[in-house]
Amino acid sequence: MIIPVRCFTCGKVIGDKWEEFKKRVAAGENPAEVLDSLGLTRYCCRRMLLSHVDLYEDFLKFSVPRTREELPSDWT
Ligand SMILES: [Zn+2]
Repeated sequence: MIIPVRCFTCGKVIGDKWEEFKKRVAAGENPAEVLDSLGLTRYCCRRMLLSHVDLYEDFLKFSVPRTREELPSDWT
């Protein structure tokens, strides 16, 4: 889904590093070196980025914009 803001184990803020990590790895850099340069040295934090799968854009395809007129009449 969306990258968690903090590491589940140690609580370090990692959410701000995801976009740069993704961009640099897509450009061909070694993921280990990118993580080192981002300051993620603990393996708990490294696994957060390495194991993350960005799915929210896939889910957005199935979202349906709703207006008040489209809602069922018994909607509360
Ligand atoms: Zn951590």
